[in-house]
Amino acid sequence: MIIAVKRWFTVALLTTCITLARTVALAADDWQVIKINGHDYLSVDNIARFYRLPAEVAPSGAKIRLETVMNPLEFVRDSREVMINGVRCWLCFPLIEQNGKFLVSRTDVAKTIEPQLRPHRVPNAGKVETVVLDPGHGGHDKGAVCRYGNEKDFALDVARKVRPLLQAKGLRVIMTREGDYFVPLEVRAQIANAARNSIFVSIHFNDTNDDPSATGFEIFSFTPRGAPSTSDNSLTPTALSMQAGSEVDAQSMALSACIYHSLLGHIPEFDRGIKRARFAVLRLTKVPAVLIEGGFLTERGESKLIAMKDWRAKLAQAIVVGIENYHALGVKKQPPMLVADYRRQTKLVPAEPVTPEADLSLVNLIGESALAPKPAKTSPSPSQQRSLPTAFDSAVIVP
Ligand SMILES: [Zn+2]
Repeated sequence: MIIAVKRWFTVALLTTCITLARTVALAADDWQVIKINGHDYLSVDNIARFYRLPAEVAPSGAKIRLETVMNPLEFVRDSREVMINGVRCWLCFPLIEQNGKFLVSRTDVAKTIEPQLRPHRVPNAGKVETVVLDPGHGGHDKGAVCRYGNEKDFALDVARKVRPLLQAKGLRVIMTREGDYFVPLEVRAQIANAARNSIFVSIHFNDTNDDPSATGFEIFSFTPRGAPSTSDNSLTPTALSMQAGSEVDAQSMALSACIYHSLLGHIPEFDRGIKRARFAVLRLTKVPAVLIEGGFLTERGESKLIAMKDWRAKLAQAIVVGIENYHALGVKKQPPMLVADYRRQTKLVPAEPVTPEADLSLVNLIGESALAPKPAKTSPSPSQQRSLPTAFDSAVIVP
């Protein structure tokens, strides 16, 4: 009996929530929701019209890369892969075709596309006082290993390089570990949850048993409620409906995008994409949280790079610039810099010759970044020049 009452209550509550959500979304009058097997979709045309951005759909199985991408939105038929503003990203659900129209799940429009195209409009995005840096692994847990060293040591070194640069920008920094010891994953999350207006940035390096030639960067944030993670092959909604989501997944996605554009914009690594996962540290943090994979220790050339102090300093600096761009969302309410903006900028600023024996001191790093044109002072980036419509106050689509 009690169970029956409880069930009725859940259903009633759910119906109310859905009705409210529909009202808000439809009030915008910009979205034509298409129902397929009980799931909500939006057409690629509708998305392009709403954001006033050209969008394209590549044929099934097409390989898309930054160099060949022409449009801010480039989908692939039957695939979860999409290029958004020049970087790869993975949708929760594949693009489908129905009656000659290409359709994207409503979840993806709300949780993947919107926070990447308009991160400056994500509520509370950029509200940061404390950055919690989480160097992966530690102590008995070495993480990935290569002939040059261990993931735990490289991750700690990068975090140590990031810390003073963020402090110099006026941000408070907490490290989940200061040395070579193991900290339980739930404790790492608790540290972030206890800090005021914090964000959580976990730093890792990758490995794989499957493909020794695998290379590149990737970044993860928590998988939205009811959606599969990027590595999940099973896309059946029934298996997924019980998974909890996060209150801050749009902020986490905005943070992912800000950091990832900076990483790829500063360092020419392979673009594995912005992904979703239910890793413990992402699941247990209640604040915007991302996990960076800064390259593969199982690939010869890449492990060599990761083992170089100067390269790690460059990685640290790129992470800092990404976090700064996220922080600026709360102040400037403007889109952050994109991969193409960074690449154009680094062309303008001649690269410092690398002296392998001398580690770049942190003072040098701060000096270098101060000399480089700052996002705020440069001429408007293409993303800004594109001048996203001012009548852009239509409601964000509600998942
Ligand atoms: Zn790791």
